[in-house]
Amino acid sequence: MTLMTSWVASANSAETPFPLNNLPYGVFSVADQPARCGVAIGDMILDLTAAEARGLVTLNGTAFDAPSWNKLMAMGAEVWAELRAQLIVLLGESGDQSAPLVAQADAQMHMPFKVAEYTDFYAGKHHAMNVGTMFRGPENALPPNWLHIPIGYNGRASSVVISGTDIVRPNGQTKAPDADMPTFGPCKRLDIELEMGAIVGASSTLGHPVSVAQADEMIFGYVLLNDWSARDIQAWEYQPLGPFQAKAFATSISPWIVTSAALAPFRTSTPEREKDLLPYLQEPSPMLFDIELEVSMAPEGKPATTIAQTNYNRMYYSAAQQLAHHASSGCAMSTGDLLGSGTISGPEKSERGSLLELSWGGKEPLTLGTGETRTFIEDGDTLTLTGVAKGDGYQIGFGDCVGTIKPAVKFPS
Ligand code: CA
Repeated sequence: MTLMTSWVASANSAETPFPLNNLPYGVFSVADQPARCGVAIGDMILDLTAAEARGLVTLNGTAFDAPSWNKLMAMGAEVWAELRAQLIVLLGESGDQSAPLVAQADAQMHMPFKVAEYTDFYAGKHHAMNVGTMFRGPENALPPNWLHIPIGYNGRASSVVISGTDIVRPNGQTKAPDADMPTFGPCKRLDIELEMGAIVGASSTLGHPVSVAQADEMIFGYVLLNDWSARDIQAWEYQPLGPFQAKAFATSISPWIVTSAALAPFRTSTPEREKDLLPYLQEPSPMLFDIELEVSMAPEGKPATTIAQTNYNRMYYSAAQQLAHHASSGCAMSTGDLLGSGTISGPEKSERGSLLELSWGGKEPLTLGTGETRTFIEDGDTLTLTGVAKGDGYQIGFGDCVGTIKPAVKFPS
């Protein structure tokens, strides 16, 4: 696959994250106009709500009359393919140059879809090994089920926010190992988790499991996801039912849904299995993606330093495997379900996707380019995730996933 060319000049470069090959889906507004569905092309956005109203895009039924992609997502894979085919013609070199465009610089981005439910997994082996080694030693690092099950927990949809939303430091209950009683107050070990989010488009039915191949076809697209984590709260609360308030206060996603179709040239297999998976979890074809990922950190008013670089291909389980496992009990999966991959870390120290790992539990502070040091996140710090799939003379970007930390609120007395 090489660069596909568009009549939108800014889309025809090797550097743009949004060439015709990408066509990612978002929700935007301009000035005080209502929010609407849009497609990124170069440094512009196709106003899809207006394009549909003008008949430039025609599907079997109106899809873009609300500021959310859920309606299109529920229509299923054949309609998604039809839309992409129409957009490639409309925005291709011989397309209709009267199509309604707005400049990305003038637009504010909003949540691209309504999150039905949010599930977070723990499917990166390097992350699980690092965290397990810190807490239980290298021999017991991986729990006995880890190589057989993509481990997950049910998170909160209510606190998934669009990139750019400020993140308020959570309050919570913590206990020092030598203290008699826990205390309540602002989190002292606030962290990121570098993840990809998979978005379920087509739903499944209660009582009906899906195969890994069917699960792959149900996934509408992917976003970058920062699963903000309160490590001190997590350490005290997580046994025996897993994370609760430590993960419930905020999860940020990047603004553009990059479709499975756009990512198709970047498919890659999950790593070699250390133990054979049970048949219902086996991958019939490559279902992971080669996406380069980066994390940067900037103290308030200061330049950013890159603190981690890794790749989505480090994951042990693909999103399709996670989704198939999720539905294996008969659990119904809904349009708009968001699946967090789990923290993505690689084998090298520079590839660690959380500060917990980068600072090895706070014991090895990082030095930023500004000369400041960090173990965990301080108020005013801005954390940015970026992702790019690199093709032959083009690239597929996601838009940044950014959040700045604000001080904890004073707890009502
Ligand atoms: Ca997570």
